[in-house]
Amino acid sequence: MKILVVNCGSSSLKYQLLNMDDESVMAKGLAERIGIEGSRLKHVSAGREEIVIDKDLPDHKAALKLITDILVDAEQGVISDMAEISAVGHRVVHGGERFSGSVRITEEVMKTLEECAELAPLHNPPNIMGIQACKQLMPDVPMGGVFDTAFHHTIPDYAFIYPIPYEFYKKYGIRKYGFHGTSHKFVAQRAAQILGKALEEIKIITCHLGNGASITAVDRGRSVETSMGFTPLEGLAMGTRCGSIDPAIVAFIMEKENMTAEQANDMLNKRSGVLGISGVSSDFRDLETAAGEGNERARLAIDVFAYKVKKFIGSYSAVMNGVDAIVFTAGLGENSASMREKICSGLEYLGAELDMEENKVRGKEKVVSKPQSKVKIIVIPTNEELMIARETKNIIG
Ligand code: AMP
Repeated sequence: MKILVVNCGSSSLKYQLLNMDDESVMAKGLAERIGIEGSRLKHVSAGREEIVIDKDLPDHKAALKLITDILVDAEQGVISDMAEISAVGHRVVHGGERFSGSVRITEEVMKTLEECAELAPLHNPPNIMGIQACKQLMPDVPMGGVFDTAFHHTIPDYAFIYPIPYEFYKKYGIRKYGFHGTSHKFVAQRAAQILGKALEEIKIITCHLGNGASITAVDRGRSVETSMGFTPLEGLAMGTRCGSIDPAIVAFIMEKENMTAEQANDMLNKRSGVLGISGVSSDFRDLETAAGEGNERARLAIDVFAYKVKKFIGSYSAVMNGVDAIVFTAGLGENSASMREKICSGLEYLGAELDMEENKVRGKEKVVSKPQSKVKIIVIPTNEELMIARETKNIIG
């Protein structure tokens, strides 16, 4: 069974074609600057060099047409006919309270997705555009919707309700939803396999540390708490997002700086986080270099980030009454040994002892705790595309 996984952003379309018989990647790529001047497609077919095609891509449908043409291309193609694709799996950011798991996309589901769009105005509309483009180009192919929020559907009410007037939950659906669910689920499942335990037996704290960052408490296979909230702005300090701050700061700055709600939102999402603190970059590689050269604000940004991750790990072990494994994933979690070291130093009281030698690893699956460490620390590269393909395979049957 071959499954095409599609992840649409407002001006991008990321895709992978997977052969689910052995879960291998047949082809993958990224269409960039869709609807903007200078659009192009980067594509790699398994075992071949990457190709870059500069072509005007006015919308997602045009991008998808180019992608499907390449998949069956005489030279670059990996399938002979589009009919070989059994299903398309779509990443959808927000499933609101309506979707507690992945679903087969129907007309009714599309209507509900439109209703959820208000909850994620930056993310859901492009996801919907991607689904519509696929439906036009591949009308007979079944499609699955896999939500970033669905894994967190098991979070109990006392953890998802904010202490603000209850009517806002009822009126506008304001509650914690959580994001990165596909990634947290994937690495939790993989951690159980690595430890040779059933997922239903163990307590895991999964740290997805990338440009966007979130932490989840996975108690015997179920997400019971996560750091992102109503939007992906809550929780950790991130590349450009502020994470959790005193909410009164927002009104204070808006008044002092004469900002509109939109400008404030922009400042908190795009000009804050480690970029805001350091004034250097949102990329931790740049921050590590700058800090190494003596830039104090870059050092401070790294310290703030690591401190917040540690705080969440401590509180999530309290939430679950213990923890068996801490997992690091995503760009920073997989690649930065120094960040893992900073986060884990001082977690020995919890029984989590990092092995400095084993920790010298980048982008590879590895247990990096000492052999005697009660809590295992594991680096696991995430694979959201594979998870979406697996979920889609399950839905389609
Ligand atoms: P992601 O959002 O998962 O793609 O992660 C992107 C982030 O990972 C970048 O902004 C970098 O800050 C971080 N990153 C990637 N590779 C490294 C590395 N080798 N060392 C430190 N940080 C890294």
